[in-house]
Parts: sequence; structure tokens; C-alpha cells
Amino acid sequence: MASELEHWSLVVAGGGPAGFMAAIAAAEAGVRRVLVLESTPEPLGKVLISGGGRCNVTHACWDPRDLVRAYPRGGQALRGPFSRFAAGDAVAWFADHGLELVEEADGRLFPSSNRSSSVIACLRGAAERAGVVLRRQSALVAASANPGGGFALEVRGGQQLCCDRLVLATGSHPSGRRLAEGLGHGVVPPVPSLFTLALRPNPLVALAGVVMDPVDLELELAAPGGAVERFRQRGPLLITHWGFSGPATLRLTASAARALQASGYRAELRLDWSGGRAEPELEAWFAACRRDQARRQLSNARPWPELSRRLWQHLLEQEGVEPERRWADLPKRQQQGLIEALHRSRYAVAGRGPFGEEFVTAGGVALGEVNLATMESRRVPGLHLVGELLDVDGITGGFNFQHCWSSGWLAGQAIATAGAT
Ligand SMILES: Cc1cc2nc3c(=O)[nH]c(=O)nc-3n(C[C@H](O)[C@H](O)[C@H](O)COP(=O)(O)OP(=O)(O)OC[C@H]3O[C@@H](n4cnc5c(N)ncnc54)[C@H](O)[C@@H]3O)c2cc1C
Repeated sequence: MASELEHWSLVVAGGGPAGFMAAIAAAEAGVRRVLVLESTPEPLGKVLISGGGRCNVTHACWDPRDLVRAYPRGGQALRGPFSRFAAGDAVAWFADHGLELVEEADGRLFPSSNRSSSVIACLRGAAERAGVVLRRQSALVAASANPGGGFALEVRGGQQLCCDRLVLATGSHPSGRRLAEGLGHGVVPPVPSLFTLALRPNPLVALAGVVMDPVDLELELAAPGGAVERFRQRGPLLITHWGFSGPATLRLTASAARALQASGYRAELRLDWSGGRAEPELEAWFAACRRDQARRQLSNARPWPELSRRLWQHLLEQEGVEPERRWADLPKRQQQGLIEALHRSRYAVAGRGPFGEEFVTAGGVALGEVNLATMESRRVPGLHLVGELLDVDGITGGFNFQHCWSSGWLAGQAIATAGAT
């Protein structure tokens, strides 16, 4: 005699932030028999390593109209979901669940403990209290929609389950995209986003560790059909052993993710080290240095104090200016070269760098296939898609988790409202 199939009101595939939020929101709103399937031994693995082990939970960007600008993929389409659950709601949600978030000067919000493990403890505790069951090392490998509603599921190892509603929250893992495709969804091909840039060779290798803020970055690359595409960013830039990192680089690569992939990660990067100073302003600074620091050696007297000494010395060398030369003796031609270098240094990008603070995938299930008020599939009733599995990704700063909280919460609420118990 065939044994009866295990039945759940809701199965969430993926024990990441989006999956946990969906499961907790549904269970807290009254859904009974909620199961989270997590393929690895430990759920919330990315939360643990996020934000350098501190977890940048969200960003102090309170107005949904501003928040949507942080999503190169997603953008205006997220106005609706964020008007129901945005950064302020996430802060309040975590406070209600015992986790205080603290804002840093640049707007990023971290747990007051400064440890990502506090975020994990908060989510795990909330799930447990709400009665959510977690199954580790249980990858969902097959899912099909029953003609009369509900889903038949297979977990790695052969176990069969059934459920009324299914949430796919598998992040950037290819298995989730395959499951979504198998259920009839189109998937925008994935490409990496939020990465660092490599120069080979790196002319700035001796400057590794130098941070300049702000720097204006302009990336120019060849687009298909012979056109040229340009992307711009302004913000803190970190010089590394291999090239460039820091928030401005990560934001730049997020907005240029697809174009960079199409160009084989080859592009020209122009940097304005001057902090946005116009050329006449730079000329005035140089004139003041000639007058006020006439007898000082160039290498010892930077034109303005925020300009890194090591970068200034590098630019002198690059422009062939003897470092011992005095300001009064700087030839006009070399002055023009230095001003040009401060304004528009050019570097040949030769690939992606090896490390980054945060990596995400652009691409995934197309947003047009999902009702963004409920995160329910427009193709398969009862199926919800949340988090990074969707074709949504944000710039660095807590925006990627914010999308997980918003989409997960909306899915959980909608499932409860639909009457799954
Ligand atoms: C190093 C690093 C640092 C980051 N730091 C930050 C940060 O500080 N702030 C920020 O906003 N964003 C950060 N991000 C991005 C953020 O981690 C992701 O955007 C976010 O984790 C996506 O959440 P998710 O729930 O959609 O997917 P994930 O976090 O990837 O979770 C998906 C889960 O599903 C499981 N899974 C996959 N397939 C299956 C299956 N078939 N069956 C069952 N389970 C499955 C996976 O094991 C995983 O546990 C960082 C990313 C990285 C890599």
C-alpha cells in the first residue's frame, strides 16, 4: 500500500533571507504547516558572510521613490512593492523581533552588535516561534503544479511532498532558475553584478590601500553594433593590488553589469581624482601653490590636503616631473599634464577583480511574469518567487537584502490573505 504523501500548506524552497522572511510572515499571519527546505547544512549562509561579517541589513533610504533608484535591474517596477514594505518597515520589523539596527554615516544600517550572527539569530528565533519547520540538506529538485491546484515536490534523495503554495527563494543558485523554467517561467540570463575591476598590469599597484573620496568614474565600452556606452558614478574609490574596488566601483559595475559582460570585461575607465573641481579651479589651486609654497618641493606639497600623498607622487612620476622640483619652477607644460592627469586619468580595464564585499547576480525570473503586489507568478497560481531569483539586483549598501525583506514579506502576507492555513 502506498504511504500517504506528506502535506504542507506552504513549502519555501531556499533558507536564505528572502525565504525566511516569506515563511515567517506567512506563519505569523496565521498559516500553519510551513516548511523551509534548505539544500545546505546551514541556512542563511550569505547573511553570515555579508557586509564583511557585519551584515548590512538595509539602507536609510526611506522614500520608495528614492529607494528604487538603487536597483539597476528592478528600478521603477519596485515602486509598488516598496510602497508596501520599504526600508523603514524593515527597520521596524527587526525592532519588533528584537534586533536593533544602527545607521552609519553613509546611510548603511547594521545590527547594533555589528555581527551578522545577530541577524541570523533574529530570523531563526522568529521562524521557530512562528512554528516554521526547517529541513536542512534538503534540496528541492523537482516541482510540478497539480491541475486542481497545489504542487507535487521531490526533495533530493527521492522524498515526495505536496503543498498548497510554493515559494521559490533559491537566490542565484542555478537549481532555482531550472525549477522556475520547469514551471513555465522565462529566465533572463544571469550575469555577475557588483564586482571589482582588474587592470593588467596594474600601474597603481604600489598605491594599494589608498582610498580617495569622492572620485568621478566614467566607464566607456564598445556596445554591439559599433556604438559606445558610457556609465558614470561618483563616490569612494579604493585602489587595490589588482585594480579598483570600493563603493563607487561596485556601483559602477552594477549599473554596467550586462554591458561589461558583453564586452568581455574590457573597457576604458576614466577617473577624475579632483573631487569634481572644474579646470579653472584646479588652475587657481596650482597658482596659489606657486605663490604660497614657491620654495617647497612638489613631492612634499600637494595642491590640496585631501589628495593622497602617494597618489600625488605617482602622478608626478607618471607625468615625468622630478619630485624635488620646487613649485616655483614647475613648467607650464608639466602643470597642464598634471591638471589633465588629476582630471582625466585613463586606465584599460582587463577583467573582473577577484574579490568584492558583496556579489550578486543580475538576471533571473523576469519581473513582468510576477504580480509584484503578492510576488505570485502570473503563470502558475499558488507559486511565489522572491529575492535574488528574480531579475532584481541593487547597488551595494544593503539594498539587496532590502529587496529580500520586501519581496519575502509581501509573499508571506499574500499567502496568508489567500487563506492558506
Ligand atoms: C560576500 C557577500 C556579501 C554580501 N553582503 C551583503 C550586504 O551586506 N548587504 C546586502 O544587502 N546584500 C549583501 N549581499 C547580497 C545578498 O547576500 C543577496 O542578495 C541575498 O543573500 C539574496 O538572498 P536570497 O534569499 O534571495 O538568496 P540566498 O541568500 O542565496 O539564499 C538562497 C538559499 O537557497 C538555498 N537553495 C538554493 N537552491 C535550493 C534548492 N533547490 N532547494 C533548497 N534550497 C536551495 C541556498 O543554499 C541558499 O541558502 C552579499 C553577497 C555576498 C556574496
